Amino acid sequence: MRDQRVVGTALGGTCNSTMDVVKHTGGCHCGAVRFEVWCSQDLHVFHCDCSICTKKQNHHFIVPKNNFTLLQGLDNLTTYSFNTHIAKHTFCKTCGVQSFYTPRSNPDGYGIAPHCLDPGTVRSVTVETFCGKKWEESMKAHKSIRDMSQPAGETH
Ligand SMILES: [Zn+2]
Repeated sequence: MRDQRVVGTALGGTCNSTMDVVKHTGGCHCGAVRFEVWCSQDLHVFHCDCSICTKKQNHHFIVPKNNFTLLQGLDNLTTYSFNTHIAKHTFCKTCGVQSFYTPRSNPDGYGIAPHCLDPGTVRSVTVETFCGKKWEESMKAHKSIRDMSQPAGETH
């Protein structure tokens, strides 16, 4: 698996492109929460430095809501929110693992933890640092993050 590190720039290859889209499966540690998610084999992962992403090392890639299916564990999820309460930090009540959540940047999509995917479906990972400490500025400057939760072919 390649690990290309890119800092502070917007790249293509988002999860709503129709190229090389595969079904990934994943879930929490204890197995209560399981999901499937359709996304490129080449993941675009955000490392955000906002207060909560720093504390929980919340690395994630973003997909449109319809690309994600919770297979089991709805009753086992609990939600933490703070500040604007737009982001929904959903995590397993039993093992505490946040395998997916609803990001403030993309409330119409999901942020998926690449480290919670089952092995075998990821070809490469591109890491982009997102300056969540200056969230409003970073969102305004970013060229593609909002499009990452749009269904394929409907980019703004
Ligand atoms: Zn669990």
